[in-house]
Amino acid sequence: DSPVLRKPDWIRVKAPVSKGYAATRKVVKEHGLHTVCEEAACPNIGECWDQRHATMMIMGDTCTRACAFCNVRTGLPAPLDDAEPGRVGEAVAKLGLAHVVITSVDRDDLADGGAAHFAAVIRAIRDQAPGTTIEILTPDFLRKDGALEVVMEARPDVFNHNLETVPSLYLRVRPGARYYHSIRLLERAKQLDPSVFTKSGIMVGLGEERDEVLQLMDDLRTAEVDFLTIGQYLQPTRKHHAVARFVTPDEFASYERVARAKGFLQVSATPLTRSSYHADKDFAEMRQA
Ligand code: SF4
Ligand code: SF4
Repeated sequence: DSPVLRKPDWIRVKAPVSKGYAATRKVVKEHGLHTVCEEAACPNIGECWDQRHATMMIMGDTCTRACAFCNVRTGLPAPLDDAEPGRVGEAVAKLGLAHVVITSVDRDDLADGGAAHFAAVIRAIRDQAPGTTIEILTPDFLRKDGALEVVMEARPDVFNHNLETVPSLYLRVRPGARYYHSIRLLERAKQLDPSVFTKSGIMVGLGEERDEVLQLMDDLRTAEVDFLTIGQYLQPTRKHHAVARFVTPDEFASYERVARAKGFLQVSATPLTRSSYHADKDFAEMRQA
């Protein structure tokens, strides 16, 4: 087990008790959906679900990888459920979302990594909730040639893929993934369809140096990535990677300033920022600007 650092005062979360939370939960359960909000034990669930902002996790609740920071269970996943895209579309329509984030477990067991299923979900949402903008947060499709093309052809509004951490920590934190492969994936997404916004995110407090974060920002800008999220890593259980330290709100503000100066169109860097946190508001704001 890893040692547990006491949480500082700036990490405060609202208990999930509101009516909006209950209503969101009902729609999610009725449609038999998984959410990363629950699976990742996200600290923002009370706030997000109160505003019906839930991030759906498609293709099951079992992942073929085992990242050291992640609470999702590892194992051999069940076969894909062909009815899932329709249920996601219905749930998005029922929640009345202006913007939805769809993510998934990694499906290294599937020949296309789940790309066709992602595309089917995008089409189902377009069909049932045509006014909703769609952000997909995908796996890295490592060794899945052609997968990215299939996803991009379905025309999401935002293509999001998280680097999660700096390259020096990949072996310990994100085994099974390759930093430069992920950078290249983001770069190719932009090349395939320059009208789609690209986005990435990392957690800090895992042991990275500030200089490494600044270098990562440059790597993302070289790949023409538009949006960036940076949040504090929180340890889901004692069995997960330890928190190396709590990055202060001032340091987050400084990361945000630097990232904007480097040319990202939208940056969210706060202790409780998550890849999908305020994704709806940020996207609306960015489009107005
Ligand atoms: Fe869900 Fe994202 Fe909000 Fe967390 S930040 S509760 S994962 S929508
Ligand atoms: Fe969790 Fe994604 Fe890693 Fe799977 S690939 S263990 S869902 S972070």
